Amino acid sequence: MKGQKCKSCSENVKIKAQISQDQINDAIDKLARSKRIKFVRDDVYEFRLLQCSKCEYLEHGSTCMQCGCFVQIRAKLEDARCPLSKNNRWAHQ
Ligand code: SF4
Repeated sequence: MKGQKCKSCSENVKIKAQISQDQINDAIDKLARSKRIKFVRDDVYEFRLLQCSKCEYLEHGSTCMQCGCFVQIRAKLEDARCPLSKNNRWAHQ
């Protein structure tokens, strides 16, 4: 969505490159080492990513402009929710 500002970033943030799959995997591996963090099942993860892929708030294929998170990481977390308060797109699982 052109011209939309991420709620979590200042005007000065410049995107240098898209996050790579290796960076996503590294972040998920680090989270997996915490016993307190639980992941969703693979089918739930895929459903969430599908919803994000169709969402107007997704930028660069990875960043949610509502919360500033990388959706490929946020969608893994059992406690995470789509930040749209009136239209939670992850709610149907
Ligand atoms: S988390 Fe929700 S608001 Fe953000 S990109 Fe995904 S579906 Fe859209």
